[in-house]
Amino acid sequence: MQAPTIGGVSVPRGDGTTVVRVRQGASLTDFADRINANPASLVTVLFHLGEMATATQSLDEDTFKLLGAELGYDIRMVSPEEEERELFDSFNINLEIGIEAEDEDDLEARPPVVTVMGHVDHGKTKLLDAIRNENVVAGEHGGITQHIGAYQIHKEHEGVDRAITFIDTPGHEAFTAMRARGAKVTDIAILVVAADDGVMPQTIEALNHAQAADVPIVVAVNKIDVEGANPSKVRQQLTEYNLVAEEYGGETMFVDVSAKQGLGIEDLLEAVLLTADAALDLRANPDRDARGVAIEANLDKGRGATATVLVQSGTLTVGDAIVTGSAYGRVRALLDEHGKPVTEAGPSRPVQVLGLSSVPRAGDTFVVAPDDRTARQIAERREAADRQAALAKARKRISLEDLNAALAAGKVDTLNLILKGDVSGSVEALEDALLQIDVGDDVDLRIIDRGVGAITMNNINLAMASNAIIIGFNVRAEGQNADYAEREGVEIRYYSVIYQAIEEVEAALKGMLKPEFEEVELGTAEIREIFRSSKFGNIAGSIVRSGEIRRGARARITRHGVVVAENVEVAGLRRFKDDVVEVREGYECGINLGSFNDLQLGDLIATYELREKPRA
Ligand code: GDP
Repeated sequence: MQAPTIGGVSVPRGDGTTVVRVRQGASLTDFADRINANPASLVTVLFHLGEMATATQSLDEDTFKLLGAELGYDIRMVSPEEEERELFDSFNINLEIGIEAEDEDDLEARPPVVTVMGHVDHGKTKLLDAIRNENVVAGEHGGITQHIGAYQIHKEHEGVDRAITFIDTPGHEAFTAMRARGAKVTDIAILVVAADDGVMPQTIEALNHAQAADVPIVVAVNKIDVEGANPSKVRQQLTEYNLVAEEYGGETMFVDVSAKQGLGIEDLLEAVLLTADAALDLRANPDRDARGVAIEANLDKGRGATATVLVQSGTLTVGDAIVTGSAYGRVRALLDEHGKPVTEAGPSRPVQVLGLSSVPRAGDTFVVAPDDRTARQIAERREAADRQAALAKARKRISLEDLNAALAAGKVDTLNLILKGDVSGSVEALEDALLQIDVGDDVDLRIIDRGVGAITMNNINLAMASNAIIIGFNVRAEGQNADYAEREGVEIRYYSVIYQAIEEVEAALKGMLKPEFEEVELGTAEIREIFRSSKFGNIAGSIVRSGEIRRGARARITRHGVVVAENVEVAGLRRFKDDVVEVREGYECGINLGSFNDLQLGDLIATYELREKPRA
């Protein structure tokens, strides 16, 4: 059916009940595709409804509803999770792995899955080795020779043989990167703190990440063999972060160990099991098609694509048709951490899978499909969906502007913030002030991580995993990190005045934040050489790293990610001897920043302009 023309264009119309499903972050072009319309016509229709949007800009639900009402479509937005579920529903595959989704009678206890985290050099790797070796000495299980990304050990606990699975990649980076992709793998985190060094920045980062994921922590106080080691100081220090040792009346188990001498390892394993039994209900149904997560994958010259998967529910068997990410295949062989073939793997068991069509990514879920054909179809559909998602510009997961709407719609009840600043004093001051905002009863303001220095990939991953907004106080995310945040829809807000940050957060919580101007980066240049000129002041011999540098543009100077000057002007711009108006990416140029002379090699000059933000 054709519409009576709106604004001079005609668009195919629905009858008011025609349901069209579009994925979150979709644009007019995506929608036009679904109804066989011309995207430009839809831009015009929307314009006549009083909304301005380009054909490729991603639109929110309200805008789609408005457009749908006009054109006779019932437009439903689907999240990637819903889309995934629908995909599997259409093949009659049940995706639920939670205990709730199972019959009580089908559930059996499963081993805990443990990740080791902590500050660099505090002994994470050594501890994983010690645990592995201890088990060889203690049991008849043979040495673990293969590195497959995870291993399982056995420990006798109250007269019963219990297994524990260790993720063999230490550190919280991998943990959070997987969480950011929606995979929850770890049940318990062992936080390693060296007793001769005490609590360090990454100790805190690791525990923030574990706490943000609601993962219980067991603290391994390591290196107690070192002279001057002070285990009680570690206990003392960690009380500040809500980790209070049992012996001090708290709930966290602390175990003194020496990874080097193999001391205290048995006690540590005991503590893991006690914590698991006390804090978690670790059960799964082993009698169903397997489901889980890929934790490591690579391309082996002889064996083709291999992936280590952690089974989370069900039992994986040789011959199963599986799909993980957009890789699929029939399981040709399963190998355990000893390199031995096994015929099946139940809940919490890591196994290496041979027989996949391609290499999945760490964090991809895997599912057993009824047959090869279904596995291949799911993989193909996923690949297509991935491509589409990459094309559709990521919408902000959560932003201060739409916070109140999200709160009102019940989509969120917590504002999670990550604070990064140039000095610890300002981060602390900002945190204190933010926590004093009266946020009312309906919403929680949580600061899930804080730190000094530029905004890192890790910060962005944590923000993705926890739906957080990052606040940069006199620090920035640079280069690929800024791109990554943009692509993944993580909002980063930059401030250089504390009260302004407080005001905006407060206004957002009250639903009063007015979108105003947004900064659009025009280009960046890196200083490679500095020429002193008595006539012009300093000239920064630079190479344009991205975009273009324009004479007259506003610039910000950062040094190792820390802002050293704001709002300086590109007063002069030269290529060799010539004055020019603009210089593009990849070219060298001389930049004169007017009266600003405090330049150093390696400084980054980022130019930007302010554009009025369209109201959402
Ligand atoms: P990671 O960076 O946390 O993985 O730390 P490593 O496991 O690589 O250990 C860092 C250094 O500390 C290495 O030189 C280890 O040999 C040493 N180390 C680890 N655990 C102990 C311990 O219990 N006692 C002593 N004395 N040294 C240890």
